[in-house]
Amino acid sequence: MQTEHLAQRIARLLERVRLSAEKSQRAPEGIRVLAVSKTRDAEEVRAAAALGLRDFGENYVQEGLAKIEALAGLDLCWHFIGPIQSNKTRALAEHFAWVHSVDRLKIAQRLSAQRPAQLPDLQVCLQVNISGEDSKSGVDPSELLALATAVAQLPRLQLRGLMAIPAPADTLARQREPFARLRDALVALQATLPTLDTLSMGMSGDLEAAIAEGATIVRVGTDLFGPRATPRGG
Ligand SMILES: *Cc1c(COP(=O)(O)O)cnc(C)c1O
Repeated sequence: MQTEHLAQRIARLLERVRLSAEKSQRAPEGIRVLAVSKTRDAEEVRAAAALGLRDFGENYVQEGLAKIEALAGLDLCWHFIGPIQSNKTRALAEHFAWVHSVDRLKIAQRLSAQRPAQLPDLQVCLQVNISGEDSKSGVDPSELLALATAVAQLPRLQLRGLMAIPAPADTLARQREPFARLRDALVALQATLPTLDTLSMGMSGDLEAAIAEGATIVRVGTDLFGPRATPRGG
């Protein structure tokens, strides 16, 4: 992709975020744009970084590691947002700053044990199965409090909040429902865990709805980098 197109897409996206924030009387600085760079090569990430983006999200461990290594000289913040297999936790603990998709205690325990002591705490969100979608990812809301209190006690992790990938919906009102449930779940947890501050929700197709319901991180791939060539990671 040509850099001027990327610059336009970034500008358009930031304007969308700004307008959505304004509508909800929120400060745009309170919404972090996570550029989802899955299937994009390191040079596309480098171009986006040169245009001011700093947070990048990856779904596949090997693919992410290759880009992290290729771009090690840039001061980027790497987020893992994909499904986590337990044999991949060491790579996540050693190379990423954030993991958004923790949905069981065993994974959190491994990340905690494997986070190198010289690195800052790994920033963690719990993925919640908020719309009961058939996807097997995400903790059931009924088990969230138990998981969150257990994860919050683990060393070398900092539990920051919640993440969800709701089933697609076609109207703004319908899109807002699951995001509102995730926000309510965060508010409920804050009674026990008052330092939680993150709602990772909203993608290219529904970021207005997510921002209206309090998203603090929106994860955007298609609207920044264009459509992905393969359905991989959809
Ligand atoms: C791919 C992906 C995104 C970005 O989706 P777009 O629709 O391309 O913006 C966000 N979050 C997760 C978890 C993803 O897998």
